[in-house]
Amino acid sequence: MKIGVLTSGGDSPGMNAAIRAVVRTALYHGCEVFGIKRGYSGLLSGEIIPLDSRAVGDILQRGGTILQSARCPAFKTAEGQALAKEQLLKMGLNALVIIGGDGSFRGAQDLNKMGFQTVGLPGTIDNDIGCTDYTIGFDTAVNTVLDAVNKIRDTASSHNRVYIVEVMGKLSGFIAAAAGLTGGAESVLVPEIPADLNALCAKISRSLHEGKTHSIVLVAEGFYGDPVDADQSSAFKVGRFVAQHTGCETRITVLGHIQRGGTPTFFDRKIATLMGAKAVELILAGETEKMVGIVNDKIEAFDMDAAIGERKQVDPQWLDLIRILS
Ligand code: ATP
Repeated sequence: MKIGVLTSGGDSPGMNAAIRAVVRTALYHGCEVFGIKRGYSGLLSGEIIPLDSRAVGDILQRGGTILQSARCPAFKTAEGQALAKEQLLKMGLNALVIIGGDGSFRGAQDLNKMGFQTVGLPGTIDNDIGCTDYTIGFDTAVNTVLDAVNKIRDTASSHNRVYIVEVMGKLSGFIAAAAGLTGGAESVLVPEIPADLNALCAKISRSLHEGKTHSIVLVAEGFYGDPVDADQSSAFKVGRFVAQHTGCETRITVLGHIQRGGTPTFFDRKIATLMGAKAVELILAGETEKMVGIVNDKIEAFDMDAAIGERKQVDPQWLDLIRILS
């Protein structure tokens, strides 16, 4: 059997660990494995390379993805999909492991309709995929944010200022909520849950008046809508509002792409490895259009439709607790 593996959409720490697990599990079972470079772009252009055990050596601990990743609008067109089919048939690939987000899974569904077996692994720092408690890369990204917030706290305590820190997550607030809960933010602003900025300002003024030396507010990049469409970062808008309504000095930090990089944590390596191995087992068992998830610490297979269809929500109780504890 010939299995292909690709990484698509935004890269995330732990994708390499997943690739390694897919390749070595498949080789162990006597399959041939091929890496498709740059996601669906490389599929269309035929950038498909054989992967042996050595090809995935020394990558477990590295962030990013050795296969590189891309967004490929052409793959969504009928011509693009016909070309993808042609390339897969030419290489004799029967099955594909697709590591990416929900967009990548929609592509996997299209390939499945063309007769190829597909299994998806949730690879995104955003944690915005249904049917899994965690996505590969989320834990590392949150730890990166915590590291940055710790440093901002040091300087924040030395001045009476309000620090507004913007984190990634597109239209999802999981990174903001997780880092806010464990990093001691004053407040967390997420796209999913409406926030009362006047109440936030009143609280900031009150706590500074009562002797608190600093306030840190975490803002998800999609707080004001799709960050791709936004002409200005959410943090700057919030910062301006807070400065105008409290009279406090504000400082803005947009953490940006440092959240995508770095060596994956134990947790991300663990789920990437277990999910990668499970993906190959599913393929060998004849399963298709499945996504591997982790729920209550168990690795399980779910229908891709369910994973794409479920809108996973930040727990509002976390935001309440953040407020109570700040
Ligand atoms: P991330 O969460 O990092 O954004 P993603 O997988 O959701 O990851 P997208 O840019 O949405 O990232 O999708 C990656 C690629 O998957 C697209 O560039 C495109 O090639 C393919 N894709 C996305 N949506 C579809 C679709 N509806 N049908 C077919 N292919 C799609």
